Amino acid sequence: MENRVFQKNDILTLTITDMDEEGQGIGKAEGFTLFVKDAIVGDTVEVKVMKAKKSYGFARLLRVITPSTDRIPAACPVARACGGCKLQELSYEAELKFKEEKIRNNLIRLGGFTEEFIDSVKEPIVGMEKPFRYRNKAQYPVGRDKNGKIIAGFYAGRTHDIIPAEDCLLGREHNKEILGAVLNYMEEAGVEPYDEGAAKGLVRHVLIREGFTSGEIMVCLVVNGTKLPKEDLLISKIRACLTDTKEADAVKSICLNTNTRKDNVIMGDKTRVLYGSETIKDSLCGLTFKISPLSFYQVNPVQAARLYEKAVEYADLTGTESVWDLYCGIGTISLVMAKKAKTVYGVEIIPEAIRDAKENAMRNRISNAEFFVGKAEEVLPQFYQSTETDGEMKSPDVIVVDPPRKGCDEKCLETMLLMKPKRIVYVSCDSATLARDLKILCAKDYTLTKWQGYDQFSRTVHVETVVQLSKVSISSKGND
Ligand code: SAH
Repeated sequence: MENRVFQKNDILTLTITDMDEEGQGIGKAEGFTLFVKDAIVGDTVEVKVMKAKKSYGFARLLRVITPSTDRIPAACPVARACGGCKLQELSYEAELKFKEEKIRNNLIRLGGFTEEFIDSVKEPIVGMEKPFRYRNKAQYPVGRDKNGKIIAGFYAGRTHDIIPAEDCLLGREHNKEILGAVLNYMEEAGVEPYDEGAAKGLVRHVLIREGFTSGEIMVCLVVNGTKLPKEDLLISKIRACLTDTKEADAVKSICLNTNTRKDNVIMGDKTRVLYGSETIKDSLCGLTFKISPLSFYQVNPVQAARLYEKAVEYADLTGTESVWDLYCGIGTISLVMAKKAKTVYGVEIIPEAIRDAKENAMRNRISNAEFFVGKAEEVLPQFYQSTETDGEMKSPDVIVVDPPRKGCDEKCLETMLLMKPKRIVYVSCDSATLARDLKILCAKDYTLTKWQGYDQFSRTVHVETVVQLSKVSISSKGND
């Protein structure tokens, strides 16, 4: 019965029958499981074993012998080397199915729900009309290639080697022209790209952002210093480069961000305006937001708006409700909810984000939203335990959470259960931690009433989920 254990460098043929969460193909040969990057379900492939453990191993794709019916050619020439878009060789239809399955499996496996139940409360995943060119923000590292030419592109998967790629297909067409102008300026003015190894040189990254509804563009150079030679030349080159694809005056902001650190953090704390304004505008769900080089803002505004509308629908607001929005960032969800609720209380750990949230509320003339700086797992219990807290803050109608990948802290979940809201809306960027948290929330008083996947990061393996939980017996709420 012993499985044959393959050795490193063995070459074999196998059929891919599954894919893991990272989009790697999984196939079995004589009971031995192999993970194969760039192979997709349904492919028959020839591979070379790179690493072999007792019962599983990793192999490199040598060639596709019979392609899967879901296989399509990658749209980007550097898709495999870059590794950002792990699903470019999968049809978009199959990608959506893969993502919905990923959420479904986690809910069943880690959330403890049955298959039948999960399927009965599912709403079909929401995909994009065109799964490319959706990002409103791009960050390109700048360096030199082997021949000394200045290049901008992406770090090859898990390394700091730059692959030249000035036209990432997830970003906007005009990024290429802007990068071209920046590189051209650097050559002409003799400006050195930053060299990580030697910690010398000037230009580290180029950040480009665009407000999709306003059309306004921001270009920010991240520099190992406080100024650049011939800044006027840089400004004129950037302002002159957009004639083909955009209105010539779309660039509203050119900034220099200083980052002299020696680590991996992309942006420094100080930004100086070289041209125009420090911010650009955008609108989302009928609200206006100002975006500065450092602010967090959803990178796929089209899908983010749809997801927020779903979160509002799941909150089921009539205008009389009190709502907590935990992990609120710059207050996007809070402000969208505030238009339909009586009061919204937002909590966020980053003080600058709360400053932006307050400004965004004022800018949009929203006066029924209050924001608090701190950890959700500390702020929420403080309000719950304090004798001075308003009743509607202690027992809100709805709690919305949108935590980072690690999910909610247990203390936060416990307090949510004590507050007994009628509904909980959980927005998640990691369905594994979502499922773990739902297991706690749905142990007794809450039931999962709806869930839906949103493809916010097309062609990559990441997927968002929004979930509605309802209190099992609302009538019991008044009895405590
Ligand atoms: N809802 C916002 C932001 C979601 S991202 C939007 O849609 O734009 C998650 C946010 O949680 C980030 O802004 C992060 O700074 C914040 N955060 C991380 N840990 C936190 C914690 N323990 N308590 C409160 N906020 C936290």
